[in-house]
Amino acid sequence: MDDKVIRSIIEITEQRSSDSLGYCVVATLAEMLPVSAITLYRFDGTHYLQSISLSISEDHLGRRRQTWHHEPQYYDYIEELTISKLSNVPKLIRHSATSFHYFYPIPLDNEHFAMLYLHLCEPTEPFTMLIEGFAKIYENYLRILDESERDKLTGLYNRKTIEDKLQDDFIRYEADGRINDLQSCWLVILDIDHFKRVNDNFGHLIGDEVLLIFSQQLKLHFTADDKIFRFGGEEFLVILSPSTCEEAAMKINEFRKHIESFTFPQVERITVSCGFAKISTKDYLPIILDNADKALYHAKNKGRNRFYCYEELL
Ligand code: GH3
Ligand code: MG
Ligand code: MG
Repeated sequence: MDDKVIRSIIEITEQRSSDSLGYCVVATLAEMLPVSAITLYRFDGTHYLQSISLSISEDHLGRRRQTWHHEPQYYDYIEELTISKLSNVPKLIRHSATSFHYFYPIPLDNEHFAMLYLHLCEPTEPFTMLIEGFAKIYENYLRILDESERDKLTGLYNRKTIEDKLQDDFIRYEADGRINDLQSCWLVILDIDHFKRVNDNFGHLIGDEVLLIFSQQLKLHFTADDKIFRFGGEEFLVILSPSTCEEAAMKINEFRKHIESFTFPQVERITVSCGFAKISTKDYLPIILDNADKALYHAKNKGRNRFYCYEELL
């Protein structure tokens, strides 16, 4: 087999996060195929989680130029194809003699799925084996990484992925110029109030169900740009996309109010306390976590069902 293919497979299997795996597969396919664009989409049940796009063009000297995009490209079209009828997605759509669209849907579990999209300038037939082979390697490896990144009960990202996801976000937002003097990312810790009582009064199974419904509400309330984690037990963490402190506070307070009035099966009412802190590139993650935790502690001390911003407490 071609040395280049073997080297690419080695590089792909060296990746340790689903995001870096995505970049590696897209870069590999771009190197091997006569493509003008490649996009990888990841979705959960409610929204798309990530899209990695690479477009390739030739300059006037015939040199190939690559441009990475972090905003969803052709998103409406893909969403229309996937959300409703994933299993019926056609693998190949020929648009014209020099334009071939190739789709490879990758169902991961009931909620999560991915889609690989390639735009080629030549017929795909000679490359089908290569495309499908790499798509399958990506699929198999993504399943393994995805499972290791997610919490079993809620399907949210688990604690050990926080540092990686934060790093990815910062690189993306800095590249897009979205972090500036006014806007920054925020780290929010949310802790369900008196959750021990839920277990004590209704049993552990109902407790688990509350955690599951709570995490679904988090997914519905926050946008795809905000990353949600189960931090442990009845504690959750959200990395908010760039916003002002006031916007962050508003978003957090709306969620707090939503939970306060939400009816959970059997348990009916629960409340949540939150603490949030600014994410600065100069600080290490443990410092930021500690800051948000101090604000949360303050919210608990002041009587629960409220939120505080660390920077405002100072
Ligand atoms: P506070 O308002 O101070 O946060 O009180 P609390 O009772 O929520 O906090 P505490 O830390 O005392 O108790 C947390 C409880 O969460 C204890 C533990 O049994 C429960 N818990 C942690 N993980 C799980 C889980 O996965 N499932 C269920 N059902 N319960 C869990
Ligand atoms: Mg707790
Ligand atoms: Mg608690």
